[in-house]
Amino acid sequence: MPELPEVETVRDGLERHVVGRRVAGVEVRRPASIRRHLGGAADLTGRLVGREFTAAARRGKFLWLPLGPDGDDALLAHLGMSGQLLVRADPSEGGDHRHLRVRLFLDDGGTLDFVDQRTFGHLAVVDLEPTVDGRPGGAGSPAALVPSPAAHIARDLLDPALDRDALTRALRRKRTVVKRALLDQTLMSGVGNIYADEGLWRAQVHPEHPTPDLSVEQAHRVLDGVTAVMREALRQGGTSFDALYVNVNGASGYFDRSLVVYGQGGRACPRCGAPVVRSTFMNRSSHFCPVCQPLPSS
Ligand SMILES: [Zn+2]
Repeated sequence: MPELPEVETVRDGLERHVVGRRVAGVEVRRPASIRRHLGGAADLTGRLVGREFTAAARRGKFLWLPLGPDGDDALLAHLGMSGQLLVRADPSEGGDHRHLRVRLFLDDGGTLDFVDQRTFGHLAVVDLEPTVDGRPGGAGSPAALVPSPAAHIARDLLDPALDRDALTRALRRKRTVVKRALLDQTLMSGVGNIYADEGLWRAQVHPEHPTPDLSVEQAHRVLDGVTAVMREALRQGGTSFDALYVNVNGASGYFDRSLVVYGQGGRACPRCGAPVVRSTFMNRSSHFCPVCQPLPSS
């Protein structure tokens, strides 16, 4: 499943390769991939053809391309478990991808292909609505507009409009433990188990540290730690190219190379040498260093 940094890599690729292009045609090969678009393939096509992509925005794992000239609606994409967005300069070269679901023909002769093996992802044209906080809707667009399906999603740690002080206060107000709070999608979106464990190790905070007992400084350290791990994954995700596609689906090698605690139970902590512990918590495993990340004594 694409994690937040991979989705941000896709957004960045769309910004560089698709923004400024117009839609010349639409081919829906699998209606299930547009099941969330009310009105079906003909309506989707009618709302896209002739329109220009004016930006590439993201909130959590929702991506959207606002449509000009008005910019009050957008092509929304969610990659689900296995979705990819592939930009192809010349679709007449080579064969089509076997999991090609929707193809948008662009005015420069290229295509934007939605490829999805498991079809949990989807595309739709949706109206944009004003953001509740008046800030930009997400990373990548200055407009204070957000697609309705993403309006309820909390901002994520890579969102430039995130209010970190408000998030720190909300985190410390929660009557829970810090790992659970990091995974709480109503507080911040897109932090999975891996980023939570790696970020807590950096912050030297135990996963089961009660959130009301976190100092402001510790809370900042936790948020900074998780953000730093995501930014590193983003840097290493990059954008890969091959003969046919600009692959804007960021396939990050980060998880293979850079994990310090996640999945490293029994290995030496790189900071202190103590064996990393794996514990089971909320039906998920947590990995931490018992020496660097002590539980506060109560
Ligand atoms: Zn340690």
